[in-house]
Amino acid sequence: MAKIAVLPGDGIGKEIVPQAIKVLKTVASKYDLNLEFEEGYIGGEAIDKVGKALPDETLELCKNSDAVLLGAVGGPKWDNLPATQRPEVASLLPLRKELGLYANLRVCSLYPELVGASTLKEEVVKGTDLVVVRELTGGIYFGKKYREKVEGGEKAVDTLEYTTFEIERIARTAFEIASKRRGKVTSVDKANVLESSRLWRETVTRLHEDYKDITLEHMYVDNCAMQLIREPKQFDVILTTNMFGDILTDQASMLTGSIGMLPSASLGGEVALYEPAHGSAPDIAGQDKANPLATILSAAMLLRYSLNCEEGAKEIEKAVSQVLKDGYGTGDLAQEGFKVVGCQEMGDRVNNYLLGEENV
Ligand code: NAD
Repeated sequence: MAKIAVLPGDGIGKEIVPQAIKVLKTVASKYDLNLEFEEGYIGGEAIDKVGKALPDETLELCKNSDAVLLGAVGGPKWDNLPATQRPEVASLLPLRKELGLYANLRVCSLYPELVGASTLKEEVVKGTDLVVVRELTGGIYFGKKYREKVEGGEKAVDTLEYTTFEIERIARTAFEIASKRRGKVTSVDKANVLESSRLWRETVTRLHEDYKDITLEHMYVDNCAMQLIREPKQFDVILTTNMFGDILTDQASMLTGSIGMLPSASLGGEVALYEPAHGSAPDIAGQDKANPLATILSAAMLLRYSLNCEEGAKEIEKAVSQVLKDGYGTGDLAQEGFKVVGCQEMGDRVNNYLLGEENV
């Protein structure tokens, strides 16, 4: 039996997570997996109900599960809270830290049917298939931060630190993933300016000695931002720091047609966490407009990495592909010839393929 902690969170989290659970239940019955799902509060909803963005019970639930499936947190209702109490900061960051999830994998591959949904030209994006391996529990998001009064106003300080240990373990993850893909790692830093990036580059270069069959290149983050748009097909595995990875993955999401297509897995500890790369999308929440595919594809990653069910993962990915081939998509994927459907119908269509039922 495997226990899955389910944390829908806020906004569209409530709509997309049930679609992924539906699909997981179908795969579980096909592959004789005994899955138990238990829900917990997180984010703004948890603040409203329990007074804390990451309640102790939720953290315990996650620690005592085999995997965590999360929707998204945050929204305008909680935007005016002090920065450290905002749902994103007060729930996601400590949850990642507590679970020891130092490696965030975001898969960015363009389904051929979505070429027209991308804002980039077909010849540029067609064939894009890359993974960003982002360091998740270190760097500037976790460094000491404070403010102090100075003459004429205030000073705000964020600190950016990395240790050899932190860099080595995330670099190893990237090399291992590249060894199962096309064998290339692009390590992204700002070594021309930042001392932490110089240590990053030295450490990655040294570790590369253990992975001689992998091609390693180094790239400055500003150049990488440009290259992602200029020629995304040059990338296989991008290895980078917490903040650079945060920004580059949102940019890279547009290569797949929509941020609603980008799944993610956060690994490193005993319990891994799976979530779409996007946020709670308050502008479309509660309207059955959200694209559930990033969450459904995150569920496929859960099967692959936490439950060792590669076949089930592949089946979900294939079902997603078939629905897109049929010409169905949520509004964010709208393109000529596509029929726009809601979040629930999109989930049903993927599920019907898994059940072997006809999609009408
Ligand atoms: P967002 O990702 O929520 O939305 C950005 C844009 O993309 C919006 O126009 C939204 O409608 C669209 N979008 C996002 N996901 C979509 C989907 N599945 N289907 C269709 N369209 C989708 O980012 P934001 O607007 O900057 O942030 C909204 C809230 O989410 C904020 O409170 C933010 O802090 C929070 N946030 C949470 C996470 C997380 O939980 N991991 C990540 C990013 C932002």
